[in-house]
Amino acid sequence: MSTFDTEILYADPEEFDGAVAAAVEQLRAGEVVALPTETVYGLGANALDESAVAKVFEVKERPSFDPLIVHVGRNEQVREICDLSPELGDVVDQLIAAFWPGALTLVLPKKDNISDLVTSGQPTVAVRMSGHPVMRAICCELGQPIAAPSANRFGRISPTSANAVEKELGGRIPLIIDGGACNAGVESTIIRVELGEKRPELHLLRAGPVVKEDLQKIGKVIRPKKVRKLEEAPGQLESHYAPATPLYFFDKPEDFVPDPNLSYGLLSYRGSEKEGYINLHDWDVVEELSPGKGKLPEAAVRLFYAMRQLDESGVDVIVAEPVAEAGVGVAINDRLRRAGAKTRMA
Ligand code: AMP
Ligand code: MG
Repeated sequence: MSTFDTEILYADPEEFDGAVAAAVEQLRAGEVVALPTETVYGLGANALDESAVAKVFEVKERPSFDPLIVHVGRNEQVREICDLSPELGDVVDQLIAAFWPGALTLVLPKKDNISDLVTSGQPTVAVRMSGHPVMRAICCELGQPIAAPSANRFGRISPTSANAVEKELGGRIPLIIDGGACNAGVESTIIRVELGEKRPELHLLRAGPVVKEDLQKIGKVIRPKKVRKLEEAPGQLESHYAPATPLYFFDKPEDFVPDPNLSYGLLSYRGSEKEGYINLHDWDVVEELSPGKGKLPEAAVRLFYAMRQLDESGVDVIVAEPVAEAGVGVAINDRLRRAGAKTRMA
């Protein structure tokens, strides 16, 4: 892997055009660049340049069985990379009208110009249009789709700030575009779109900021059954988004039995006694996702930041408290469960 003196360019209003141009220049040269989106920071490469896409896997240390999400800047680009029948195209247009630009990724039949490396050999490609103005401008200016998975090393905490990207990938990439903190905070919702008999079928592959209640307006939301083989549902990896510190996600506070020799940090939803975790132990550190009343969108925005803070605090163990299983809370609990999966299995 090449090493770089990683440059960070802040895309504030005065520097916006310069930052966009610098990113596009690197992408045209076949390099990978960290880019802001509303969900988490992405590691972008020209999706039609196979050697650039290969660098994404190398820099992330991502196994090639885990496919990448492709970002577009204009609606028409979907049909340049996806093979849509008129009927499926109608459903896709409805989804685009309702949710794009935004945090919804559509898994659709791919065209030949998208290589097997991007899709891990699958006949489908995952597409989305980000609502982040900097990402949109870069996609439009480049004029080609951008493959951009999250800008972290594989299996680790997703970055929601340029600073977090630098910690993950500093020295491995030439450029980070700083577009501020991500305002959705968890990765996009992913659905596989199928026609279905009466209504479109939207198979929920990953919970995210666009919630089931919203999707139901367009089609029937189907949660896939437990995944048997990894290749059947990439990205549904049990262990993911994990801090280096062991993390335990307890559904019930009673399940927590502290070891007196260890120090503990609590990742609390709102720091309230009601959940029963805050008074359970004399925690060394507490990070609250949404102090006070508890607002799920705020908890989502702070989730990965708070996880990182606890990881860096030096505690031996992190204990995570579940949030309300509603709206974007479904996605938050999903990430917490996966962050704890390795610890549970060990
Ligand atoms: P990320 O992990 O944020 O880099 O997002 C990439 C994720 O998108 C993968 O882990 C998969 O879950 C999903 N994905 C990408 N392409 C496909 C596809 N063709 N079929 C199903 N899921 C996909
Ligand atoms: Mg990821």
